[in-house]
Amino acid sequence: MKKDIQSFGSIALSKKLLAAVNDMGFEEPSPIQAQTIPLVLEGHDVIGQAQTGTGKTAAFGIPTIELLPEGKPRLTALVLTPTRELAIQTAEELNKIGRHKRVRTLPIYGGQAIDRQIRALKNGVHIVVGTPGRLIDHIHRGTIQLAHVRTLVLDEADEMLDMGFIDDIEEILSNIRTEDRQTLLFSATMPAPIEKLAARYMKHPKKVAISRENLTVPLITQVYYETREKFESLCRVLDVEETGKLIIFCRTKRGVDDLTASLQSRGYLAGGLHGDLSQSQRDRVMKKFREGRMDTLIATDVAARGIDIDDITHVINYDIPQDHESYVHRIGRTGRAGRKGVAMTFIEPREYRQLRTIEKLAKTKIVRRPLPSATELLERQKELIKERLGKVLQQNKYAEYHAIVSDISIEGDYNYADVAAAALKLALEGVNGPSGDARFADTGGAPGMVRLFLNVGRAQKIRPQDIVSAFSSEADIPGDVIGVINIYEKFTFVEVPEDLAERVLSVMHRNTMKGYKVNVEPAKKKDE
Ligand code: ADP
Ligand code: MG
Repeated sequence: MKKDIQSFGSIALSKKLLAAVNDMGFEEPSPIQAQTIPLVLEGHDVIGQAQTGTGKTAAFGIPTIELLPEGKPRLTALVLTPTRELAIQTAEELNKIGRHKRVRTLPIYGGQAIDRQIRALKNGVHIVVGTPGRLIDHIHRGTIQLAHVRTLVLDEADEMLDMGFIDDIEEILSNIRTEDRQTLLFSATMPAPIEKLAARYMKHPKKVAISRENLTVPLITQVYYETREKFESLCRVLDVEETGKLIIFCRTKRGVDDLTASLQSRGYLAGGLHGDLSQSQRDRVMKKFREGRMDTLIATDVAARGIDIDDITHVINYDIPQDHESYVHRIGRTGRAGRKGVAMTFIEPREYRQLRTIEKLAKTKIVRRPLPSATELLERQKELIKERLGKVLQQNKYAEYHAIVSDISIEGDYNYADVAAAALKLALEGVNGPSGDARFADTGGAPGMVRLFLNVGRAQKIRPQDIVSAFSSEADIPGDVIGVINIYEKFTFVEVPEDLAERVLSVMHRNTMKGYKVNVEPAKKKDE
């Protein structure tokens, strides 16, 4: 197998192609692209198999366009694709790839006025992307000139076969000369009839298959939240994030049941799925989820294995996956069929190292995202409460509360608007208003920093560099984010950024420094 290519620049591509790929915002080739583009450029017939959404269009589009002779447009490459939507979408992508080289690509599909297509073909194009039926139509009418076609692509071959296009495909193939033809076949799966087709029409094809395990999908945004209050944090994120269908993974069946019940009691449309449920219970949950009557599915790894739903917007790891393979499996449930997806992982501070290991082994990037702030949450909740309040008012079943409002207003001399506003504040924020982690509220640190107390100091030969190196290596934080360090005879104060305080605390507390056991706790303002 070929060595993986890390950048488009290391493939022998012309400036025009590199510029186009850059315009399209592709940073690096996807695995299927890295392996097939060089083979196509070398002139081989190539069979490429990779899951949907892995960039197969550019995998054949980039080298095909690179190889196109410049000059007067004539039909040199023909792409067969199963549906009208794919024809349009693929032609668009090829037009982008060929933009700087001024390559013209035309989609041809049933349902569009054939006269228009005939005119466009006459005007001259380099590439046609067509559905088999309509192409046959043009061949029969003699309105498409295939004599100069050098590259033939069977795209989404498994779908074309499923749709019964095999005879049409064979007829088209028989109309294209074979001597110097390069044939490329791309497909998500490789059932036997496709192998047969390849054996009959391709010349010593090179096969490239990318298995689901070792791909990192470019379309998935991967983030993690670090928190000690996973449930509250999850609710907060669900409340501010625009989500569609989402799957939340838990480690155990018990975990699924608990989280499902907790989310339901907060009013989320959630349902659980695990192995202890009867088949009919599972079917019911899946039906609701599929039809969108429920948007949150909570599942164990095992239960989720059979799920095949294309429009999942978010995968949430409520429990960190056991290993990188499970991570890749889980997040692969979103970002399918070319859609964008988001994978979120919730970790407790002590699970940070485990997350980094998964990130490294899965060869991916999982970016830290701060939890939505109390203010962001409040903004969103204000919108929600308007909606909900409107509904309550419409239903007109709140007479029993009238007495309270009028009592308060008369006793305290408040007008009704004040009482209503105060009631909303109470409902949204509680009596004391929004607050962060109370333990970090007032430690006497600089703004945005939390001051920590350590029970070791000069007596234990602690120096500032010991603190910096222990914190940065144990808690894996950059040394330069650590703030003021004050070392005294028997103890030390260290300031760390608020959002990292929890991690430092949980990693360093009961850890050792210079052989001494350390206690770490949030400082009290009056200490020192
Ligand atoms: P497939 O045919 O394998 O289902 P597509 O070719 O339709 O996948 O590609 C899916 C999406 O990924 C498209 O929006 C495409 O523009 C994008 N894409 C393709 N290659 C890359 C890449 N190297 N980097 C980023 N996005 C890419
Ligand atoms: Mg495709």
